[in-house]
Amino acid sequence: MDEVLRSPSLESAVEREGRAATIDAVHATLARLRDEINQDSIGEAGVQLAIEGIPQAVERELRQSLGYSLQKVINATGVILHTNLGRAPLPAAAIEHLSQVASGYSNLEFDLTTGERGRRDSHVQHLFERLLAEHSYAQPPTDESRPETIVVNNCAAAVLLALNTMAEGGEVIVSRGELVEIGGSFRVPDIMAKSGAQLREVGTTNRTRLSDYEKAITDKTRLLLRVHRSNFAMIGFTEQPTAAELVALGRKHRVPVMEDLGNGLLVSLANAGIHGEYGLHDSLDAGSDVVCVSGDKLLGGPQAGVIAGRKELVKRMRANPLFRVLRVDKLTYATLEAVLLAYVRQDYGAVPILRMLYTNAEQIRERAEILVRQLGSVPGSTITVVEGNSIVGGGTAPTATLPSFVIAVTSRRYGPEELQARLRAQSPPVIARIGDDQLLLDLRTVLPGEEPSLAGLVRAALS
Ligand SMILES: *Cc1c(COP(=O)(O)O)cnc(C)c1O
Repeated sequence: MDEVLRSPSLESAVEREGRAATIDAVHATLARLRDEINQDSIGEAGVQLAIEGIPQAVERELRQSLGYSLQKVINATGVILHTNLGRAPLPAAAIEHLSQVASGYSNLEFDLTTGERGRRDSHVQHLFERLLAEHSYAQPPTDESRPETIVVNNCAAAVLLALNTMAEGGEVIVSRGELVEIGGSFRVPDIMAKSGAQLREVGTTNRTRLSDYEKAITDKTRLLLRVHRSNFAMIGFTEQPTAAELVALGRKHRVPVMEDLGNGLLVSLANAGIHGEYGLHDSLDAGSDVVCVSGDKLLGGPQAGVIAGRKELVKRMRANPLFRVLRVDKLTYATLEAVLLAYVRQDYGAVPILRMLYTNAEQIRERAEILVRQLGSVPGSTITVVEGNSIVGGGTAPTATLPSFVIAVTSRRYGPEELQARLRAQSPPVIARIGDDQLLLDLRTVLPGEEPSLAGLVRAALS
């Protein structure tokens, strides 16, 4: 041990990684070598070589054991909001702002004018006010009738807080066609139970009428809930009241209406060829008293949940002790603030997921052809550009696909799954998908800065 630690390369490792971690790595390396010698698997000459190679083996061990677990990957799947790959990549301005706020002190809860304690959500409140400026619960609009917003950890937390605040101990009416499960085990009935509200399901799986809701309203009813069918679609013999119809029913019986939107859509996706997607403005237009929104689905920001709605209701949520439990930190506020500013400036190109959504197939074909040229011919492999589809993902727009072009790769040496694994083993890992028994790379989700290194990574995986 002492001898190994005295070798010059490990002296610098001790300085860099610390004595304890380096000693651990030496222990692990020596134990492995001892095992190999005991099993007689490397022979006399091998032992000598292995002993000489100990410092390098220790360095390798250190790199492996002290490397980050959470690391950057290149998403070549064409799934824009890939929940397993961290959903939305953030705008450059958001990273810059985040880095400034995070690396020092900030006025997170400090009012710079008065020098007194401030509120952390004031940093995004005025931006939401501007983005929702045309919405009001009264004509003419007053300060009191404009929607207010608060931010929590994610949309699931938003739903929990809203249900607990408005309906604990009472009943919430939901259509049987909307008792959904969203990936990662968010189930509406389970969240409802945890909120202390009683689920009152009405209608059938495929058809729920306004009269079903109306018949279920009693003096125990606290809320009518609509849940966006984010990750599935129903076709055929189906019926459901519109949000506006449900709002009218709620008004008649003086019961608030809440919509769990799940996404954070603030702009029309018609230019991207996606029609009928329903966002925050649509829900507020319909008159929803409270809307729950996700910060990283279609908004393109950090993981967050936003509750937008009537001031008096949102004020009660702010006063709920659960709000303190579910609140977000300065990192989220900094990121969200920068993303919302891009929306206020209508600088949609600054938001990576919007850029990806609005890229047309022809632009992707050009990029794919450049990459194929960079790859040149790789012996034993066929690489072509073919028509394909990208997916919005993230449990949004379940039926929408975006026409795209993909790079199809086949190899005589490796099957598609093997190739997929070899791409995952690169640094940075490249995540691809398989279709028609071929490995497919969709450049729609590959960021501009990643493209130059992609050819080398693909070539390494094929070799
Ligand atoms: C995705 C989704 C949620 C959960 O959102 P998170 O931000 O992932 O917590 C809740 N409701 C609906 C309808 C959703 O689509």
